[in-house]
Amino acid sequence: MPQSAERIKDHATLFNEPEYLALFERKKALECGASTETVAKQSEYVNSWEYREKNLAREALTVNPAKACQPLGAVFAAVGFERTLAFNHGSQGCTAYFRSHLARHFKEPCAAVSTSMTEDAAVFGGLQNLVDGLANAYAVYKPNMIAISTTCIAEVIGDDLTAFIQKARKDGSIPEDYPLPQAHTPSFVGSHITGYDAMVKGVLSNFWNGKTREPNDRLNIIPGFDGYAVGNNRELKRILAEFGVDCTLISDVSEVFDTPTDGAYRMFDGGTTLKAVTEALNAKATIAMQQYCSEKSLELAASVGQETAAFHYPMGVGATDEFLMKLSELTGKPIPESLEKERGRLVDAMADSSAWLHGKTYSIFGDPDFVYGMTRFALEMGAEPIHLLSTNGGKEWEAQMKALLATSPAGAKAQVWTGKDLWAMRSLLATEPCDLLIGSSYGKYLERDLGIPLIRLTFPIFDRHHHHRFPVWGYAGGLRVLVTILDKILDLLDVETAKTGISFDLVR
Ligand code: SF4
Repeated sequence: MPQSAERIKDHATLFNEPEYLALFERKKALECGASTETVAKQSEYVNSWEYREKNLAREALTVNPAKACQPLGAVFAAVGFERTLAFNHGSQGCTAYFRSHLARHFKEPCAAVSTSMTEDAAVFGGLQNLVDGLANAYAVYKPNMIAISTTCIAEVIGDDLTAFIQKARKDGSIPEDYPLPQAHTPSFVGSHITGYDAMVKGVLSNFWNGKTREPNDRLNIIPGFDGYAVGNNRELKRILAEFGVDCTLISDVSEVFDTPTDGAYRMFDGGTTLKAVTEALNAKATIAMQQYCSEKSLELAASVGQETAAFHYPMGVGATDEFLMKLSELTGKPIPESLEKERGRLVDAMADSSAWLHGKTYSIFGDPDFVYGMTRFALEMGAEPIHLLSTNGGKEWEAQMKALLATSPAGAKAQVWTGKDLWAMRSLLATEPCDLLIGSSYGKYLERDLGIPLIRLTFPIFDRHHHHRFPVWGYAGGLRVLVTILDKILDLLDVETAKTGISFDLVR
């Protein structure tokens, strides 16, 4: 046997042993799969322009969309509040998916529970599941707040959350004054960013409705759904401290997705306090770091009389400038010298490396705000975007992207794709390739099939570790993005030049 108790092999090497290779061949024969020649012929065809036209015309089927479903975003938003339990009214399997998806990215457990609706609840309604589920969750986990969102099953049968929650309170499952914000998050529309927005709005409404606003000079910031939230939220707090700005982050997951290993399990850690959320009503303004994660929440903030502003995942020089200038405008405080110095360092680094970055062609996929922010920074680096794809981007986003691309001659070759999935991206890259692909771990299949190197810079990143611990926002974050891209470019150059030895230089 290739493996024994004395010689444990990792699966990556174990399954290359002759015994397993022979087993795979027998399996192939048993499955009566297509011949190697047929597979090769079809692979060639799916790389053609003819197939691309058919693929882009596809309407009735989605293959590997670059988005997740609404309640995943609602769970992410919920756990960003102090001792808050994310509670899904729906199937257990959905909640298992949200938990595993977030845990695989952050390498941290993500607590969330469900009402475990099964066949009977799907037919007769999930009222009893919700009443019993709330009683159990409250008694067992002792959260300070339970944030309720729905999965497809509850939405398809039309369960009335508000009425069910009233019944749960009436039955004594949960105290009358206990906070139970809710969000309807049907997954057959929108995506995780819509669900995030719905839950943030649900929490704000829960604490703001019926209260009188007494305006002060504080600011609220909604970070949005962000795979780099641990690093980015901390960076945001550092920038605000440098500025001397009093601010409340609305849903701060930076602690709960980065708990230390010190012998104590923390089901809840950190998060925006419920007191701070209540007082956030009085803030002068609410700022969204990602417009498309916060549209409804900003509408609510505006409706109570706050000023609002929205950004697109501010990375790089110009986007950070705008964010800091907005902070300065809202607070009347000058941009601190320390941050101006950081700006100069980022510009210096970009200039140092411009020879390697200039003219490189990129394709980028992900959430609309990320693709916008990344494209803007890529243009600043002198790169030429080619395919810019957001499955959950809409018409407004498309117009914003085109306006951004029009600001630079480097944007002339770019094409913006909204509502398309990663199978469409495959056809785009096969017919019009580029130097580098920027996106999530799901891009690794495109990298393997088409030979376009992938740079992982957005959620989810399952197959690399700890990226989320470092910021990508602000000038300091921009430096990290710059280094990540440069490392990939220079590593590839070393591999290429090592083949002949020509230009395999020590100094780059
Ligand atoms: S799409 Fe619907 S069924 Fe699937 S995981 Fe999301 S909520 Fe559950």
